Amino acid sequence: MRKPIIAGNWKMYKTASEAKQFVEQVSGLVPDASKMDSVICAPSLFLPQLVVSAENSPLRIGAQTMHEAVEGAFTGEISPVQLADIGVDYVIIGHSERRQYFNETDDSVNKKVHAAFEHGLTPIVCVGETLAQRQDGNTGSVVEKQVAHALNGLSGQQVEKLVLAYEPIWAIGTGKTATAEDANEVCGIIRGKVADLYSEQTADQLRIQYGGSVKPSNIEELLGMQHIDGALVGGASLEAESFLQLLEAGN
Ligand code: PEP
Repeated sequence: MRKPIIAGNWKMYKTASEAKQFVEQVSGLVPDASKMDSVICAPSLFLPQLVVSAENSPLRIGAQTMHEAVEGAFTGEISPVQLADIGVDYVIIGHSERRQYFNETDDSVNKKVHAAFEHGLTPIVCVGETLAQRQDGNTGSVVEKQVAHALNGLSGQQVEKLVLAYEPIWAIGTGKTATAEDANEVCGIIRGKVADLYSEQTADQLRIQYGGSVKPSNIEELLGMQHIDGALVGGASLEAESFLQLLEAGN
């Protein structure tokens, strides 16, 4: 049995006081970590404060990106060591917005995944196709290639610990959700690829989230699917009430 994982991705939203208020509001209401993992990936600026606010709660805090180097002359960047040092547990790697606007490639995603593991962070690795790739019938080959690149050089044990997020780009922030069947089919393709690259056992352990306009009204159907073990959620994670409804569905 794979433990569900629901992660909110706040992107570049909220002020520090709004972020603190949200975490204080939900902290006491988050399901026990033995039942499911609940994560908020916040803007870097708020991470130290949110780690403290969530200290006595099962809620875990994640970053939305990081640099792969331990330290160095990389103005504006944040390193895995810095994130781990303040108590961050998760980091989103290769979100399509990072790939599209900040030149992240399969290669840099792979380096970051290795760096995350080296410093005790759990990567949430995003893959997904564009609308054109889907319409051309290339969804499977696109995500298989992204997965193979992202995991290159990792051990089976590491793959069992990471989280893969299947996020069709055309469904992110658009209100268009993939049907539960389509999302499940692609998550199954991802699991099959991991079985080919590693083993059935590793593929069985791997948790795969779906992301793309997930909301309280559609999460139950998505989580009911064989290969979908959770959700990576943008818009619907911004309000405490709807975030708690998402967690309830996963619990
Ligand atoms: C995301 O940010 O990863 C995402 C899936 O956003 P939304 O839920 O708003 O589509």
